[in-house]
Amino acid sequence: MTTPPSAPGSRTHFGFGAALAAHALLVEHRANEGWQPARMAPRQTGAVPMGSGAVQYGLSVFEGMKAFRGPDGKVHLFRPDRHAARMRASAERICLPPMPEQDFVAHVAAFTRAQEHLVPPHGQGALYLRPTLAAAEEFLGMRPATYHVFAILATPVPRPASKPIGLAIEREMVRAAPGGVGAAKTGGNYAASMLAAERAKAKGLDQVLWLDAFEHRYLEEAGVMNVFVALDGRVVTPPLDGTILPGVTRESCLALLRGLGVPVSEERIALDELVAAQQRGQLREILGTGTAACVVTIDRVLGGGIELRPTSTELAQRLRAALEPIQDGRAPDPHGWRVKVDAVRAPAGMAERSAEA
Ligand SMILES: *Cc1c(COP(=O)(O)O)cnc(C)c1O
Repeated sequence: MTTPPSAPGSRTHFGFGAALAAHALLVEHRANEGWQPARMAPRQTGAVPMGSGAVQYGLSVFEGMKAFRGPDGKVHLFRPDRHAARMRASAERICLPPMPEQDFVAHVAAFTRAQEHLVPPHGQGALYLRPTLAAAEEFLGMRPATYHVFAILATPVPRPASKPIGLAIEREMVRAAPGGVGAAKTGGNYAASMLAAERAKAKGLDQVLWLDAFEHRYLEEAGVMNVFVALDGRVVTPPLDGTILPGVTRESCLALLRGLGVPVSEERIALDELVAAQQRGQLREILGTGTAACVVTIDRVLGGGIELRPTSTELAQRLRAALEPIQDGRAPDPHGWRVKVDAVRAPAGMAERSAEA
């Protein structure tokens, strides 16, 4: 039995992203040779040069996913196939070499096995995994790179807090526009978002409510989470129209809501209609979903004279109560979302021994 990274109760050096694992799994890709064998290396080995496409042109994509320890002590991944598919789609959108999905899952499983000691005890959090693919060739011309590095980083995280958050309505800046890269998990979207997020924090709020780029009217995302709204009798979430990130948590919540018999639809949600719904007493709840935060209640949405203050937390609680036990292995897994890391074959060329670094 291995020791968790911090004793239960000492949560301070256990915060999100604070303590990165010392080792990373690295896989190189060369245009003429394809994907190379994986190796474990000190995390800094994967550093990309200042003259790379990743630094200069934002040519990098990433995933955020979690490994959990089940009640039997065994470690599993949550929906790694969906993260593999999304990383592939993100890579294709910005001309990075797509990694075959099976290889992605094999690398993530091998890395997690090698870092098993960092997976918190059952019920106390997860190992957050950050597979990242970056253009690492030093070249300033404008073309796809011929050398890329895929790396998996990791950091242990506690169970997400269920404290409600507040959003600032953003009416000038936009996160993504139709035809852009909004559906790709790429750094450029975060670069586009950072200033508005900082302004929201300066106003005492936690995140930004992003609206559509044309009319600044339709809800897109809640910071770096997908957004759901519960109106009287039904739940809505914006459709995947290319400007929002296709969240795995969003997809899981849609499946769970349908399973619970809650009427749910993917439709555009106009901010002014939410104001009207609130006046009619029909705005029940707003919530955000994402791997890091799971499901969080949004109890206030403020800006430009608008003030939405949904009071219910019932849906967030129901969704969390349905999702978390499937994620951490307490509940049955009817959808086949959990993948035991021991059940995934090692990636080609990677000796398990070298994974024990
Ligand atoms: C990653 C991300 C999400 C959430 O996706 P999950 O797969 O549920 O973690 C939502 N919005 C943005 C902008 C993201 O980058």
